[in-house]
Amino acid sequence: MTGRNARPSRIPDPIISLIDDRLTGARCAGKSPLFDTELDDETAEERSDRLTWARAQCTRCPVQRACRAAAEEQEHPHGIWGGKVHGLPGHPGRKDTAA
Ligand code: SF4
Repeated sequence: MTGRNARPSRIPDPIISLIDDRLTGARCAGKSPLFDTELDDETAEERSDRLTWARAQCTRCPVQRACRAAAEEQEHPHGIWGGKVHGLPGHPGRKDTAA
């Protein structure tokens, strides 16, 4: 990726919106499902453990501040952004938990 406006073709718009040079070096790169709000066939305990692990990655992420700014730009962020969990079940789009 060479710039914020460099948008490769054939990538769905929701994914395109996540491509941002500010997030270069993100610790979640290549691990996005682990940063989702919930996964299929996941127990509540497994989800809790996974989200705890993911949030710990965010605390050591070099682009955490930029990530939080990017989350603020999303209309309905879901998953973990900058160590915050967004859109927990029953609260779609809500910014539920502080880091
Ligand atoms: S702060 Fe967390 S969610 Fe944001 S880019 Fe870094 S690892 Fe990913």
